[in-house]
Amino acid sequence: MLVCGCYAQTSPKDVLKIEGVAYVCGTGGKMKLAEAALELLRESEKEPVCAVTNVFLEPFERMTVEHAPRTRAYVKIEDGCSCRCTYCAIPLARGSVRSKAPADVLTEVARLAAGGSREVVLTGIETAAYGEDLGNTHLIDLLEMLDKREDTPRIRLGSLSPELVRPDFITRFAKLHTAVPHLHLSMQSGSDNVLRGMRRRYNTAMALASLRALREAIPNVQFTTDLMVGFPGESDADFEETLAFCREARFLDVHVFAYSRRPGTVAADMDGQVPESVKRERSARLIAEKNKIREEILSSVVTEGKPLSVLFETKGKDGWLGHTDSFIEVCVPSEENLSGEIAEVVPIATENGILYGQLK
Ligand code: SF4
Repeated sequence: MLVCGCYAQTSPKDVLKIEGVAYVCGTGGKMKLAEAALELLRESEKEPVCAVTNVFLEPFERMTVEHAPRTRAYVKIEDGCSCRCTYCAIPLARGSVRSKAPADVLTEVARLAAGGSREVVLTGIETAAYGEDLGNTHLIDLLEMLDKREDTPRIRLGSLSPELVRPDFITRFAKLHTAVPHLHLSMQSGSDNVLRGMRRRYNTAMALASLRALREAIPNVQFTTDLMVGFPGESDADFEETLAFCREARFLDVHVFAYSRRPGTVAADMDGQVPESVKRERSARLIAEKNKIREEILSSVVTEGKPLSVLFETKGKDGWLGHTDSFIEVCVPSEENLSGEIAEVVPIATENGILYGQLK
């Protein structure tokens, strides 16, 4: 068995002890995995090999996607993170920020578009930090480069830290034709006390101001986020602030998750660890709130009645499912094969977080 990834990077000795493990390479050296597998097949009696390297000294590993589905393809543009959020073990496993060269990103996106992919999601460990290691090229510069090319499909950004969204970013982002009007801003909490404890680099007032400015600049923009409950020291009052923040921010969707201790992180040893029963109760309340807000947003889209641009992905039991550019999930009953098609849909109803509509 060959093992790679974050746990293998941070705990290679533990992984080597697992029965059947023959090779461990962590988060670097993945390009050599096939070669290592062939070597192991040739010498079946070999001792387990630890090929884990110091990830803080590794350059960006130039892995590219050659073929992808007609619908949505993912291009990794960045690895590593220079932040030190107190709950997160990722920087230990992924090292510092390393970015894919802009020319490589442009080539990869063009190849995927030529292969039929209708949407490309740019991802990374800390995508907002793209270019930190490149000098003068930042994420917005890369988006503008993509926007200038005729062959660029819909571009969606993976999870972003809210501090990226500053006035200059908003002005330039609003002018792009290929970037979709949807941002996933990873808030983590709606309480300033908790954000300070997490060592996040923004507060709720900054985030709300950014959302307002983006809504003014891009009227149909939608936002999604991640919110963690039960961070050490999160009081009932802090959690109520997160609920209030959620109501004001009006996210289309929220990924709600409970804090879990990661060995080696600052938060793992903090006082005020929150009991699991409290985390469960807070998760349930936050999920109920975000579902209510989602239904309100979808109902307003139905009332407005404006046609939506939908990329269809799969066939469900009630019809073809896809997402609008602003990431609203849509279902359309149709006998046609809509897989990979982008079509205009008139919204007619909403149920259980899905918008139902008909082809225009
Ligand atoms: S949570 Fe995100 S920004 Fe913070 S350290 Fe982890 S990867 Fe970096």
